[in-house]
Amino acid sequence: MRPASLVEKGGPLVSAEVRVALMEHLLRTDDIAACAQHCLEWLAAHAGVQRAICAGLDEEGERLVGNASVGVSPLLVAEFWIEVEERNHPLIATLRRTEAVRFSGGGRHPITPLGDEPFIAVPLGRQSTDQLALGLLLLAGDSVTRSPNVQWVVEILSDKFLSLRSRHLASESRFGRERSLLHGVINAVSDPILLTDSDGRLVIANTRAENLFVSREDESEGRRRAVSMNNMLLSAALAGRAMERDHARNELLLVDPNEGSDLLFELMSQPVREGDGEVGIVSVLRNVTDLGRASAEIGETYEKLQLAQARMQSERHRLDLIIDSVADPIIVTDAAGDIMLMNKPAERLFTVQIPGNEEAERRVRSNDAHFSSFISNLLFSGSEKRVRGDITLVDQETGESLPVEAIAGKILSPQGELTTVVTILHDQREALEKARLYEQLKKFSTELEARVQAATAELAEQNELLRRQAVELEQASAAKSQFLANMSHEFRTPLNAILGYTSMLLQGVSGKLLPAQQKALSRIDSNGRHLLDLINEILDITRIESGKMPLHISRFELQALIDEVFAELDPIISRSPAQVTARIPANIPELETDRQKLKQIVVNLISNALKFTHEGRIRVVAGYNARSRMVTIAVSDTGIGIAEEYHQKVFEDFRQVDASTTRAYGGTGLGLSICRRLSSMLGGRITLKSKLGKGSTFTLHIPRKSRRP
Ligand code: ADP
Repeated sequence: MRPASLVEKGGPLVSAEVRVALMEHLLRTDDIAACAQHCLEWLAAHAGVQRAICAGLDEEGERLVGNASVGVSPLLVAEFWIEVEERNHPLIATLRRTEAVRFSGGGRHPITPLGDEPFIAVPLGRQSTDQLALGLLLLAGDSVTRSPNVQWVVEILSDKFLSLRSRHLASESRFGRERSLLHGVINAVSDPILLTDSDGRLVIANTRAENLFVSREDESEGRRRAVSMNNMLLSAALAGRAMERDHARNELLLVDPNEGSDLLFELMSQPVREGDGEVGIVSVLRNVTDLGRASAEIGETYEKLQLAQARMQSERHRLDLIIDSVADPIIVTDAAGDIMLMNKPAERLFTVQIPGNEEAERRVRSNDAHFSSFISNLLFSGSEKRVRGDITLVDQETGESLPVEAIAGKILSPQGELTTVVTILHDQREALEKARLYEQLKKFSTELEARVQAATAELAEQNELLRRQAVELEQASAAKSQFLANMSHEFRTPLNAILGYTSMLLQGVSGKLLPAQQKALSRIDSNGRHLLDLINEILDITRIESGKMPLHISRFELQALIDEVFAELDPIISRSPAQVTARIPANIPELETDRQKLKQIVVNLISNALKFTHEGRIRVVAGYNARSRMVTIAVSDTGIGIAEEYHQKVFEDFRQVDASTTRAYGGTGLGLSICRRLSSMLGGRITLKSKLGKGSTFTLHIPRKSRRP
């Protein structure tokens, strides 16, 4: 459809030759701006147009953009554009018209590079009423519009606009088909594929690549962040690739924007060249995450395997050390019962140690047979993990029987299958010997127990017997004491009469005696007196033993008592060759005891000293220990002394150091035993220190105060 003429007719058309030249020019170029520019210049040359602008819709049909001019600065024209959206803009409104519109300046005059000057806007390339014109020709002034040349140029420029647009549309649709085909193809590939331009901007991407590198505003913050991170990583990888070499194959670690997990890709990139320059890069990403994971796992498994192998070797080494250091034989057998391993002690039983020795070989075979039978029993022993049994083996060297206790442990695989059996053999000889000894010991102990019981019973019987005998003896002793007391008393009366008459005869009461008579009577007198002494002493002992000698406690001074004793013994002291002294210290307190009994003891001790001392001296020394409250009276002499072995014996009844003593010194052998009994009655004792030939010291120890009976 040609635009209706608003241009007034006038002026002649230029020659056909000039017009053909323009048309030829237009046919040679498909660039609308170049065509428009040529047309405007033609009009300036042949139609007197001085100032004019041509504007056309852009490819998207969204803007009206200035593309050629004459008499106007091309810079202003290049910056001249109007949004088609501005439907009320007078020039956009003109695009919807078929006729030229005149703008005569003033109030609603549109802003164009022509300024305020009036102009006519002629629509160019209007196809139909429902479509916009493809461009506008703005011609300043009025005069040129009447020219038929202008009319003609408008027509051919409109045609050019229309033909270029239809060609563009055709190529657009072909390009669109190709593009969607390309999308179909790259989307069919499971790997992300993308084309980036030389600035790194994404031009084409398949769905998988879009998932990684494209996000929308309405998507989650996490996803958008992951996508921007992926873009950065990809740009860095591509930049790195550019520095390395073309067709690089690199690993690229990205983030899964949906799940946040790591994704490992192999990046294959190929530059796209146009002419001499690189216009973009095609990148294909191969997901090798699983491959990476698998290879990492294989690496890990391999390391574990190595470690396990090393551990197994050290365990094996340790096991060898352990089983070799155990003194008991250890045998390791497999599930079939074949021996896999054994230690040295086991080798001595199950391998021939003396090559060529038939006897040894026979013994080893016998041991093998016994052990195999034990193992085969164990293989049928069910689920028990430990099995014990007794086997009798043979010592290879000595041929001695070797009873052993076999303890076998089963080692099972994780599936529960028997893999190995470890058997330890304990030599039972010692245990059996111990058991035998123990039995023997038990028997002995039972026998001993019976014997002890019998002996105890016998002892009890003897004790009972002894007890009865003691009772009987006690009774007999009491009877004897009684008898002796009675007899002594009975003896004393006639004896005193005998002594009295003998004394009278000796004194010449019955006339003068012949020397022989005198001698005989003297003997009667001395033997009678000895007998009286004896009887008196026996009487004392029997009275003490039968408890018929009571204590008479009184208070007295020791010094006084000693003086009394010295006075009584004076006839003997004065005849003694020894010097007799007494020393009673003043610190000795008053005594409270049986005076008579104490005196009897002291008299006896001094009498003995006088009897057995032929030279030197006799000393009576008293002492007092305030702490123990004990009084001591020591009678020392320089006499014949007493041998060590008689120190105890001299205190026994009728005991003298030797029989000759009686003959040489007289005496009864009862004096010291009476002293011992008396001192004991006073709560004290007598001690003796003496050396044969050197003298003796008898010491009486009594409490200052005797306990009342
Ligand atoms: P006897 O009446 O015989 O003196 P004793 O019992 O008094 O009896 O003494 C027993 C014996 O102890 C004496 O026979 C004597 O052998 C010995 N004996 C006692 N006192 C002394 C002493 N002072 N020196 C040496 N021997 C003594």
